[in-house]
Amino acid sequence: MATAVLSIDTSALAENWHSLNAMAQCETAAVVKADAYGLGLSQIARTLSRAGARSFFVAVAEEGVALREILGKGPQINVFSGHMKGDTSLIRDAQLTPMLNSVDQMLLHVEALPGHPFGIQLDTGMNRLGLEAVEWAALRDIALPQNPKLIMSHLACADEPDHAMNAAQLKAFHEMTEDVAVPRSLAATGGTLLGPDYHFDMVRPGIGLYGGLPFVDARPVVELHIPVIQIRDVAVGESVGYGNTWIARSPSRIATISAGYADGILRGMGPNAHLHAGSSAVPVVGRISMDMIGVDVTGLAEEPETLELIGPHQSVDTVAGFADSIGYEILTSLGGRYKRIYL
Ligand SMILES: *Cc1c(COP(=O)(O)O)cnc(C)c1O
Repeated sequence: MATAVLSIDTSALAENWHSLNAMAQCETAAVVKADAYGLGLSQIARTLSRAGARSFFVAVAEEGVALREILGKGPQINVFSGHMKGDTSLIRDAQLTPMLNSVDQMLLHVEALPGHPFGIQLDTGMNRLGLEAVEWAALRDIALPQNPKLIMSHLACADEPDHAMNAAQLKAFHEMTEDVAVPRSLAATGGTLLGPDYHFDMVRPGIGLYGGLPFVDARPVVELHIPVIQIRDVAVGESVGYGNTWIARSPSRIATISAGYADGILRGMGPNAHLHAGSSAVPVVGRISMDMIGVDVTGLAEEPETLELIGPHQSVDTVAGFADSIGYEILTSLGGRYKRIYL
């Protein structure tokens, strides 16, 4: 079989949820947008639900509908994008809780689904989603009597603990919500790690559950092992791959492995990327193709059957670094062709 194997350690996932939950003296939700960061909504959400998560967050209503089918009645499913035109029947039928972002969304929601639960998203400086302070001031006397389930905001720089933006957003969030008797949430993974001042009534980690930075102590969740299709000898002066970008300077053994940029292994990683055969690092040579990558295995004592791209020897974040990217992008780019195994 030439299909690469992506293994997902659900006990590590559950343990990461428990670790973050132990840090927070409040409810710990779980962010499962984008197919649970590319790892598979169904298995991930079931695992987190069994671990104890009672509130989940998705990006759009359609993801919420899929999640409701997986989890059934009970868990609160919150939608970051709020209540968009066309979402009404989804929100009603799947009992989703939209995080309303604007005056328009608030009006749409209370008109279309009076009495249906909602939350409110405030902008404390990131300028991405949410009501600004003046809008909130104008709307709060209308919104608060309708019993919002949650008031939330999002930190722009939480992965940099010393960044002045964190304290500024914390202050803004306090100022906007001080006298409000509604549960509040400000922290994702980074904010959870910033400490109790940032926790309020609910933390909502995503990446930390999946083993990514900034949660340094996370247990790794993902391994990716790619089969070697063929190994060949390459003589001095011969090239490997499209564009002849790599030329052998000494007699070399080159393994062609069965994955490429169509599987989310970003083409831009090529010049910096390594894989591992056991504890030995082996460099990518030449350009990454759609379905194949050349790897220099000259130094190995034995011919490998598979090579590890993500696993015990290099983390998702190490791999992200090959393309000057972040773990989030690597996980959510993981391709649909991998054979996914849930441990
Ligand atoms: C994606 C997201 C999260 C989760 O962020 P992580 O950094 O993955 O923990 C939390 N809140 C909002 C608003 C988000 O968009």
